[in-house]
Amino acid sequence: MFESLSDRLEGAFKTLKGESKLTEINIAQSVKEIRRALVAADVNYKIAKEFTDKVKDKALGQENVLKAVRPGELMVKIVMDELVELMGGQAAGINLNGSPTVILIAGLQGSGKTTFSGKLSLFLKEKRKKKPLLVACDVYRPAAINQINVLGEQVGVPVYTEPENKNPVEIALKAIAHAQETNRDVVIVDTAGRLSIDEAMMKEIANIKEAIQPNETLFVVDSMTGQDAVNTAKAFNDVINYDGVVLTKLDGDTRGGAALSVKYTVGKPIKFVSTGEQMDTLDVFYPDRMAQRILGMGDIVSFVEKAQEQFDEEEAKRLEKKIKRNKLDFNDFLSQIYQIRKMGDLKSLMKMIPGMNKMTRDLDIDDKALNRVEAIIQSMTPQERENPEVLNMSRKKRIAMGCGQTMDDINRFIKQFDQMRKFMHKMSKTPGMGGMPGAGM
Ligand code: GDP
Repeated sequence: MFESLSDRLEGAFKTLKGESKLTEINIAQSVKEIRRALVAADVNYKIAKEFTDKVKDKALGQENVLKAVRPGELMVKIVMDELVELMGGQAAGINLNGSPTVILIAGLQGSGKTTFSGKLSLFLKEKRKKKPLLVACDVYRPAAINQINVLGEQVGVPVYTEPENKNPVEIALKAIAHAQETNRDVVIVDTAGRLSIDEAMMKEIANIKEAIQPNETLFVVDSMTGQDAVNTAKAFNDVINYDGVVLTKLDGDTRGGAALSVKYTVGKPIKFVSTGEQMDTLDVFYPDRMAQRILGMGDIVSFVEKAQEQFDEEEAKRLEKKIKRNKLDFNDFLSQIYQIRKMGDLKSLMKMIPGMNKMTRDLDIDDKALNRVEAIIQSMTPQERENPEVLNMSRKKRIAMGCGQTMDDINRFIKQFDQMRKFMHKMSKTPGMGGMPGAGM
């Protein structure tokens, strides 16, 4: 995410390396590089200029104070604060106070509206303990109804559709009545999009909004489209005056322009970011965490939150007991792999750890290592998984055949597993050191 912007900003701070204090000259040089970095990230020149003017003023004001802090570090702090400000300062919540709460989803076709609707319903169900209802109001693409039905089933949320009805206002109103009857407390209305903005589309979405009076209107936009995303966001806001923006496809190699300039240009906050096609890849947008990531400081808060979400206390206790008895088996190992997987892919997890962002690019960290271990364990019989001791030569040979790996691979893994098991057992006996590192994560 935003790698080239991070690299360029790092270069801008490096211009201050070796300088003993901030001066008008070195500030000007560094600020010029920062502006270039922003423009290259597809931030509009006017915004980039205003941003760097502010950074410059702040830096000039700091010329002679704080002698203990190096000029480069000071500049990072100033840019960090300004980035947070540019992206809206505080995180913006969504209004869930209706009964039922009605959320209208708008955006161009292909922006990721339907995918987001599915993700939002899962988010509200799991994290806010709500009972959502998804509504298909795209009356133009028959495939859209099918798509939302599939997503609804995937996340376990009911879907309201009327395949024969071509009137989206009517469908939305009936869906809200249906939600009241069936005790659903949030109605997520997914609307039709066109490939580009046109008058008929704008009129339709404005009509729907007028009729259903949503508590929250969210505009979904593809971050890969950069400046265009910002322009589209502005055009939609002029017509429907939405409450917040959802940026999708941040997992792609998007340059960052949309995330940085939407709030400034449209005046509406980014509320969610979407980072994948899977239903659980939705995050609340926090300007400070995003700024930290852009500046290569990682996002340790999100990392810990993800870990906490997956933390299963019962499972951790169960494992602790097994470790103490030196009875850890391959099933336990496999369940740990699944827990890690639930948090996301390894590389993006590593990136959240401060200082790791750059390293992950050079290192060959991928999920293949986990896949290999998983394949080995899956080729074992239930008896072997529960009793690692029974693995003799012929069993190992069979496992190697089963998972398409060599005997060396199998032996190496079993040896590592054995060492780990011994180590953990030993640790569990040392006072104050009980438990498995990352148990239950
Ligand atoms: P809609 O026409 O606005 O409803 O868009 P869809 O929800 O159908 O999404 C269009 C395509 O983008 C689909 O192939 C989605 O799987 C994909 N997509 C949606 N959100 C994301 C995202 O955050 N990351 C990635 N990589 N793909 C996404």
